[in-house]
Amino acid sequence: MVTENRASLCTGCGVCVAICPKKCLKMELDANGFYRAVCDESACIQCGLCDKVCPKFMDIKDAEVACAVSAVSKDEKTLGSTSSGGLCYEIAKKALLSGKKVCACVYNYEQHRAEHAVITTVADLEATKGSKYFQSYTADAFCELLDGSEWVVFGAPCQIAAVDAMAKTKKLRDKMLLVDFFCHGTPSMNLWKKYVEEQGGSNIQKIDFRSKEFGWHSFSLRFTYQDASIGTDYKDNMFYTFFFGNYCLGDACYECHFKALKSAADLRVGDFWGEKYRDDKKGVSCCVAFTERGRTELEALSSVCRICDETVDEMLKEQMVKSPACPKQRGVVLKRLRERKKLKTIYNTTLLPYRVKCKIKSILGR
Ligand SMILES: Cc1cc2nc3c(=O)[nH]c(=O)nc-3n(C[C@H](O)[C@H](O)[C@H](O)COP(=O)(O)OP(=O)(O)OC[C@H]3O[C@@H](n4cnc5c(N)ncnc54)[C@H](O)[C@@H]3O)c2cc1C
Repeated sequence: MVTENRASLCTGCGVCVAICPKKCLKMELDANGFYRAVCDESACIQCGLCDKVCPKFMDIKDAEVACAVSAVSKDEKTLGSTSSGGLCYEIAKKALLSGKKVCACVYNYEQHRAEHAVITTVADLEATKGSKYFQSYTADAFCELLDGSEWVVFGAPCQIAAVDAMAKTKKLRDKMLLVDFFCHGTPSMNLWKKYVEEQGGSNIQKIDFRSKEFGWHSFSLRFTYQDASIGTDYKDNMFYTFFFGNYCLGDACYECHFKALKSAADLRVGDFWGEKYRDDKKGVSCCVAFTERGRTELEALSSVCRICDETVDEMLKEQMVKSPACPKQRGVVLKRLRERKKLKTIYNTTLLPYRVKCKIKSILGR
């Protein structure tokens, strides 16, 4: 099917590709750097399965909370190399050790993109550490979720809601533990591609997406180059400036159906922002269990993580609980990202004048 409506609101989750019985759908990056489902209409049999699993057509209510906790891995190496408290890594490791398969996001250094992969060994789990703050290409890995194995699947809330719908349709939901995260949204791949090119492109050997060198609260990226030299982009990081300012998120992110507690997952993880852990330097994960299965899973992690009961209110204090407004500069930013201009130039010509204007207004207002 994949109507015009779907193409414009597509979250790029890739689940329609996995469920299509005729394999007539594929995910493609559009000109603005967002994954979109594209359909070969001549092969489509109008079965409607793609619409059934599409997150854009879902009306998700706040999920019931079974428990809310903070979690920190007891392993210092894990804590140092993960995004917040290393909870996702510990959940995945436990699953692998009990014979389950894991589907999670890794970084492809040849194509400089994030993609979901099937992980079956603890050694391969290393590559899933760290949040890659842009859309992940999921379609190939999600096709494997229907093999009847026991799975733990990690992903953005829209991806996980679609996987949940697919698993229910195929009567496989009991075999899956689904883990999503509090999600800010995903920026254009054109932003990431431009940024990574400016940081060294093909000379980059490794990226630490959430380097904790300057503390867990500082968003900085650390690059290891082919010649073993190292660079950290910490202050005035152009990638995070465009991302956190919401200047180039996907269309669907401005109308997100999955903020706060709206989730189809068993567990929702995130960074435990806010007053309580403000002085913590190493990282604390927050986690809400929405199902008994999720709650049991958390309880079973107490030997590898320090887990404390928390309130959901405390957890949500500094989370983005509503979709962001679409800034008026988004159109021009997306256009400039398609051109051969440096990020700093785009910033200076599109965002800086606006920011200066806002600053002057606020000073005059005072
Ligand atoms: C695009 C994006 C936006 C986010 N926004 C917020 C937010 O607003 N507030 C908040 O508290 N937390 C947010 N997070 C989650 C946060 O960055 C951490 O993932 C979370 O704190 C768990 O940390 P950890 O130490 O357990 O993760 P780790 O153990 O480092 O594991 C990271 C996990 O995230 C998964 N992952 C990484 N990149 C992607 C991706 N691109 N798509 C799908 N899955 C991915 C991996 O599969 C892995 O399971 C966001 C993550 C992403 C990818």
